[in-house]
Amino acid sequence: MLQESFRLLFHGSPMPTALCDPESLRFLVVNDAAAALWGFSASALLAMTAFDITPEADWEDVRAFAQRDRESASNQRIGRHLRSDRSMIDVIVHSRAITFRDRQANLVTIIDVTEKQRAETRLAHLEHHDALTDLPNRALFRIRLDEALARLNCEQDELAILYLDLDQFKAINDTLGHRVGDALLRAVADRLRACLRPGDMLARFGGDEFAFLCGGLSGPDEASKLASLAADVVSRPYVIQGHSVEIGTSIGVAMAPGDGRDSDLLLKNADMALYRAKEEGRRACRFFEPEMDARAQARRRLEVDLRHALAASEFDLYYQPLVALQTGAITGFEALLRWRHPIRGMVPPAAFIGLAEETGLIVPLGEWALRQACAEAAKWPNHLKVAVNLSSVQFKSGNLIHSVLTALAHSGLPASRLELEITESILLVESEANLATLHRLRGLGVSVSTDDFGTGYSSLSYLRAFPFDKIKIDRSFVSELGNGGGSMAIVRAVAGLGSSLGVATTAEGVETSEQLAWLRAEGCTEMRGFYFSPPVPARKIAAMLKANETADPRFAPVRKH
Ligand code: C2E
Ligand code: CA
Ligand code: CA
Repeated sequence: MLQESFRLLFHGSPMPTALCDPESLRFLVVNDAAAALWGFSASALLAMTAFDITPEADWEDVRAFAQRDRESASNQRIGRHLRSDRSMIDVIVHSRAITFRDRQANLVTIIDVTEKQRAETRLAHLEHHDALTDLPNRALFRIRLDEALARLNCEQDELAILYLDLDQFKAINDTLGHRVGDALLRAVADRLRACLRPGDMLARFGGDEFAFLCGGLSGPDEASKLASLAADVVSRPYVIQGHSVEIGTSIGVAMAPGDGRDSDLLLKNADMALYRAKEEGRRACRFFEPEMDARAQARRRLEVDLRHALAASEFDLYYQPLVALQTGAITGFEALLRWRHPIRGMVPPAAFIGLAEETGLIVPLGEWALRQACAEAAKWPNHLKVAVNLSSVQFKSGNLIHSVLTALAHSGLPASRLELEITESILLVESEANLATLHRLRGLGVSVSTDDFGTGYSSLSYLRAFPFDKIKIDRSFVSELGNGGGSMAIVRAVAGLGSSLGVATTAEGVETSEQLAWLRAEGCTEMRGFYFSPPVPARKIAAMLKANETADPRFAPVRKH
C-alpha cells in the first residue's frame, strides 16, 4: 500500500525526478516529468546514465558531484543538461542518498532554470547595452574606461577616447521619420563596429553619439587613423527603407594620460574637442587642446555678460536697406542686432546669437528686437517695410504671436509693413505646431520670408510646406556667382521658381556691380548687400532715403564697402 502510494507520488509529480545508481550513475527509475524534460522516453532513459544527458565538458563536475553524494546525505549542483534534440538547458540538480529495494540509490530532482537564467542574463545585458544598436552603453563604457585607466602604465602606453556625433542627424530624423532615423543609427553602428580592433570598445551614448575606447596605443597617430577610418565608413551612402541617405560625423579625441588620467576629465575633454569639431563645420575631427578649455571658459564669461546685456541696454539694431532690382528704390530695411559690449566693443551676432539660443535669452532679446524694429519703422514713409529675424527658439517659447501683436500695437505699425525672416530649422522641429504659428502670423497680415535659402537640408520641400512671401537666396550662392560652379544654375533656378510661384526673391550679400547686373538679368526682384550699403544705425536712415529718393536706375550705392 505504502509502496503503491509512493509510486503514484513519484510518477505523478510535476517535478522531474529520477533514481540513480550511485556508482555507475545509471537511471534506475525516472518519472514522466523527467522524461519530458530531457525529451527521451522513460524506457530509453533506463538504458542511459547521467553522463548521457550531460555535455561532455561537464562530466568531471558530474563525477565530483557523485563523489560528494557518497559523502553527504544531500547535495546540489548548478549545471547544464543536454536534451534529446541536443539543445542545452540550465538546471539545478538536487540529490539525496536513499535506500531503494535494499540498496543504495540517489534520489535526484531537477529544476529547469533556463528561462530564469536567460531573463537574468538579458536584464544584466540591458543594463549595460543600448537597446537599439545592442552596443555597450555609457555606463559600461565608463566601467571599461576606469579599468583601462587603472591598467595604464605611465610608459609608452596611451589610450584614446574618440567621441563621435553625427552631423545633421536631427534633420534626417525630422524629415524622413524616426523609423528611418533608427535604422540609420543601426546601420552606422554596424559600420563603426567593423572598424573595431581587438580589445577596443565601441559604445552608443544615446541619440546620435558614439564613442570608441582604444587602449595600447603608441601615440595619437593610431587614434587619428581610426578617426579617419570611422569618418570614412560613416559617410558612405546608405539606402534605408527605399531612401538614399547620406550623413557625416564630427569627432573629438582625448588621449590618456596626456589629456587626463581620470575618466570624468577625459570624457569632458573629448566632449570639448567634439564641440570644437562641430563648430568647424561638418565632418571635422579635433584632438583636445588645453586652449579649448580656455575657450569654453571664455564662452561661459560671455554667457554671464549676455545675461546682463539686455537690462544694461547694450543692444542696438542696425538697418540694412533692401533695394528693388528693377527700379533701384529702397523698399525696406532688415533689422540686425548689434551688441555694444562695455569692454569688448562691438560683438557681431554670429558670436552671440547661438549662445543666446542655447540659453533661452533669445526669447526676451528677440522680443526686444521686434518692438524696437517696429517702433523705428513706424517713423519711416508708409511704403517701407521692416524685416526682423526670428530664431526657432522663439517659436518654441509659445509667446511669439503675442510678442508680434504687442510690438505692432505699441508702435502703431500696420502688420503689412512687418516681414519676418525664418530659416528652415523652424520647419524641421515640431513642424506642425510651428506651421500653425506661421499661418496665424500670416493671418495677421505679416509677411514671412525664408532666410538663407538653399543652405539647408530640404529646401524644396520647405517651400511646399508654407506659402512664403519671399525667398532670400543665401549669400554663399551670390558670392560664388562669378566663379563658375553650380551657383549660377542655382540662383537662376530659384529666381525662376520664385517668379512661377509669384514669390519675391531677394539676393543677399551683393557686393559687386557684376553680381548686381547678373541677378537683375535673371529676374531676381530684390537685393541687399554691401554694394548698396552695409547695415547702418537708425539715425542714418533718413539721409539714405533722401539720397535714394530719385531712385537712380544705376542703383548707385549709398556707400561702397
Ligand atoms: P542674416 O539674416 O543672413 O543677415 C545678413 C548678414 O549678412 C548680416 O550680418 C549682414 O551684415 C551681412 N551682410 C549683408 N550684406 C553683405 C554683403 O554684401 N557681404 C557680406 N559679406 N555680408 C553681408 P550680421 O548683421 O552679422 O548678422 C548675421 C546673422 O545673425 C544674420 O544673418 C542673422 O541670422 C543673425 N541675426 C542678426 N540679427 C538677428 C536678430 O535680431 N534675431 C535673430 N534671431 N538673428 C539675428
Ligand atoms: Ca536675415
Ligand atoms: Ca540670410
